[in-house]
Amino acid sequence: MRILANDGIDAVGKQLLEQAGFTVDTENIPQDQLPEALKNYDAITVRSATKVRKDLIDACPNLRLIGRGGVGMDNIDVEYAKSKGIAVVNTPAASSPSVAELVFAHLFTGIRFLYDSNRKMPVEGNTKFNNLKKAYSAGIELKGKKIGIIGFGRIGRETAKIALGLGMEVLAYDLYEVPSELELNLAGGVNVKVPVNRVQFNELITDADFISLHIPFLDKPILGPDEFRRMKTGVGIVNCSRGGTIDEVALIEAIDSGIVGFAGLDVFDNEPAPRAEILNHPKISLTPHIGAATNEAQERIGVELASLIIDFFKK
Ligand code: NAD
Repeated sequence: MRILANDGIDAVGKQLLEQAGFTVDTENIPQDQLPEALKNYDAITVRSATKVRKDLIDACPNLRLIGRGGVGMDNIDVEYAKSKGIAVVNTPAASSPSVAELVFAHLFTGIRFLYDSNRKMPVEGNTKFNNLKKAYSAGIELKGKKIGIIGFGRIGRETAKIALGLGMEVLAYDLYEVPSELELNLAGGVNVKVPVNRVQFNELITDADFISLHIPFLDKPILGPDEFRRMKTGVGIVNCSRGGTIDEVALIEAIDSGIVGFAGLDVFDNEPAPRAEILNHPKISLTPHIGAATNEAQERIGVELASLIIDFFKK
């Protein structure tokens, strides 16, 4: 059995597959050469870079499994693959803690102006130190503030747990179920149940001091001009979910008009080339879609993918 891990696979996952008798190639074959190259493989694993569309599936009649390391399947024609008898698997839970921690990296960055001070200190740090000190002196704390979480699935709940641990109040909104409390697993084996406020969308928008998005890509943005107008002045917005869930033009307008205090973005409308107004904005903290890019998450993803592939082929 031959597997092409076209976007790479963690070393532990690769080892598990090889121990189970699979040949794993981690060569990154360019998209246009894949229809020819993939003919010789039984399975392909991808992250978000490689696209597995109808034409590639049609070109590879031997393909029996497509594995996505991560959650979103936007880069795979899932229903078409299944209609051809090809299994499609993913590893939805493996990256949740890493994405949730990145949300807080952006939040801490936002409340203490790190996005801007990191850009200015190398240029003005020794000539205008006191000016910069003054410019960044009105920071705030997260403790005691309200965080609105839109989408209370795996990552939304992980984000809520960190927020609750920091002494924040969680306002949770989801189309479906929201639990009334979450269990925090603290150091030393201490488990504590902490209540969660389930709210309507409108209440979240108007009451939250910070808003974090954890929903899939929708037909249209969930946060646009109308929603920004109703938010608290100075609200911080974080998006580590999917590009297109926020109207980016409306976000820039809301920051420039003073409604939004700062934003932290890991995902963008135009990946991999986000619009210049976003990239150059002094009140936006930026990361290039690296929510799941930690060593721990990649190892969990690799191990989970390996076991899904082994189970499938050894059935
Ligand atoms: P999940 O399916 O566990 O949770 C999503 C939740 O959103 C569900 O509870 C669903 O009911 C809810 N939802 C869907 N549409 C909604 C709407 N219109 N209003 C309110 N709630 C709605 O998914 P997850 O694993 O928590 O992932 C969340 C998002 O994060 C996905 O878009 C995923 O692609 C993205 N993600 C990003 C990264 C990254 O690198 N930044 C990594 C992993 C996942």
